[in-house]
Amino acid sequence: MERILEFARNRLTMIGGLGGVLGLGFVSVGPLVPTTPEAGQLEPLVAVSAEEVRTEVLSSGRTFGGILQQTSLSGNEQQGLLLAFREHASPSRLRAGTEVSLRFVRGTEQLRGVDVTVSSDELVRLERSSFGWNSSVERTPVWVDTLAVGGVIDRDLWTAVVLNPALDEMPRGDRAQVIHLLDRVFQWQLDFSRQIQRGDSYRLVFERRVRPDGSMRSGRILAAELVNSGNPLYAIWFDLHGDDVGGYYDLAGESLQRAFIRAPLEYRRISSRFNRNRYHPILKVARPHIGVDYAAGRGTPVMATANGVVTRRGVNGGYGNSVEITHANGFLTRYAHLNGFASNIGVGTRVSQGQVIGYVGMTGLATGPHLHYEMHRNGRAVDPMNIDIPAGDPIPLEARVSWTQDLQERVAILQVAPQGPVIRLAEAALPDLETVTEDRR
Ligand SMILES: [Zn+2]
Repeated sequence: MERILEFARNRLTMIGGLGGVLGLGFVSVGPLVPTTPEAGQLEPLVAVSAEEVRTEVLSSGRTFGGILQQTSLSGNEQQGLLLAFREHASPSRLRAGTEVSLRFVRGTEQLRGVDVTVSSDELVRLERSSFGWNSSVERTPVWVDTLAVGGVIDRDLWTAVVLNPALDEMPRGDRAQVIHLLDRVFQWQLDFSRQIQRGDSYRLVFERRVRPDGSMRSGRILAAELVNSGNPLYAIWFDLHGDDVGGYYDLAGESLQRAFIRAPLEYRRISSRFNRNRYHPILKVARPHIGVDYAAGRGTPVMATANGVVTRRGVNGGYGNSVEITHANGFLTRYAHLNGFASNIGVGTRVSQGQVIGYVGMTGLATGPHLHYEMHRNGRAVDPMNIDIPAGDPIPLEARVSWTQDLQERVAILQVAPQGPVIRLAEAALPDLETVTEDRR
């Protein structure tokens, strides 16, 4: 509570800081789409390209090497070309469907160059020179933008985010990705499938790298606020080690990380949000019910909620196929009704938090596929939703100054995240994300 008050007191400062943030960002509110410069009226020009391009598509029986063999290149030249190509990609790892464009001097069989689209983001360009073949990579231009978005949850988080009209132009798959990231950000604090209430609200600041077609190459939540049953939770990303991995902290700089994550299934894979009542018959007969049930499709991966050692794996009465993991400080977790186990899991296996240990099923006493999850401490069953687990390390003293800067900036953007339309703070494409041509000879 104290923290929230302190937060409220700091709010003015943050809005002050907002000017700084927006001073840069507001220059271009709206997508940073490269615009076509005015060129005036130009006479139509008919030019014959000096090149003739033939595009081949790789398939299981059609390799890059095979395509080269059908050109006029000598064996040595083919080797030289493949060698230059290897500086950027492995010819044997090219997937079926990869396009290889052969560029010939018009009207001849003389090869001038070869372009290979090694991925949707990268093209390897091979060019003939007087000394052999040179290769370079061209990357699809990507720009970075930061979205601030918010909303009230009137049914469940999934619908609230996926159907947020402010995100209309974001492909659906990318919106699902945002929810997944949000789930990972709060995985130690909240079980999204059980603890989100109607009337909860969210705001988040999301940084993404976008391709020209509007799809996302990668994204990261920079700041998030989730008001759950009137209780605000905050997650601010901070890159403590400068390695771009970073971690999430609350407003006071306490790590969000805990020894246990709240749920053994990823939120996006849980089907119960569509039908919470599905397993009531079972709940009624399970007497007393000392675990948490998650309805999910057969085969859904089940994760260890904390680091530990597998102490039981196999059929266990009404639990069916189950796994027990023993953790530090007297904790034990049990995962029941599994369809099967992860292949590398046996008694004595050391597992880490988030590691897949098995798959949802309905073995033992179960009328439908679901996961039954239990948590015990010192031999007594405890409620995994309602247990306090000590936090990870807070922001160290020596990083406090840069943390405070990032915090103020990110919270300032969060503050403007509306309960309605999206705000976009466009930034210039980072230098390393502009079309980069690396020349390697
Ligand atoms: Zn159960």
